[in-house]
Amino acid sequence: MSENTVWHPNKVTAKNREDLLLHRSACLWFTGLSGSGKSTIAAELEYRLYQRNVLAYILDGDNIRQGLNRDLDFSPEGRRENIRRISEVAKLFVDAGLVVMTAFISPYREDRDRARAIIGSDRFVEVFVDADLDVCERRDPKGLYKKARAGEIGDFTGVSAPYEPPVSPDITLVNDDRSDVGTHVETIIGYLNDRAIA
Ligand code: ADP
Repeated sequence: MSENTVWHPNKVTAKNREDLLLHRSACLWFTGLSGSGKSTIAAELEYRLYQRNVLAYILDGDNIRQGLNRDLDFSPEGRRENIRRISEVAKLFVDAGLVVMTAFISPYREDRDRARAIIGSDRFVEVFVDADLDVCERRDPKGLYKKARAGEIGDFTGVSAPYEPPVSPDITLVNDDRSDVGTHVETIIGYLNDRAIA
């Protein structure tokens, strides 16, 4: 189907949009167990970036699963397609000039590597939110681990489906209950500064 489509060359380029916004674009790809703190850290970071006049946007697991990807299940194939579509959407946000954050478990290394390839490795920042399973399970803000342990939810990452931690993430944030979310945000801001992104 796609062989008869041609990418339309527009007059306004991605570089023009970056110049307009006065910062560069990138995708911060958060990965970690359910309850590790991806959404919490992304939300704080979005606010800090907003205060610094950086246009950022969060693509969040639950929102996307309720809309764009509501036809997908949590099987390995469903998860792969979930991540592929999110990668394509994130790529468009990067092209639009934003700092986009994706907050999905994204448990498979291969799927995250594909996301990096789709978005482009120079724009892709893998952020590993590292919290032990027992910490996540104790937090259990949505009661999902309880349901998974009771067998009410199948294919639940960490319980009945695997999580493959990143081998060499760009940023690792150990987020147990002694961790300070503000410190994590500063770590990411420092990284974006060093890379001259924002
Ligand atoms: P995820 O998006 O990875 O599923 P969330 O961001 O929803 O995880 O966080 C899960 C729960 O853990 C939330 O209730 C959040 O408030 C809490 N949390 C996150 N980080 C910390 C932390 N450093 N200390 C204590 N609680 C935290």
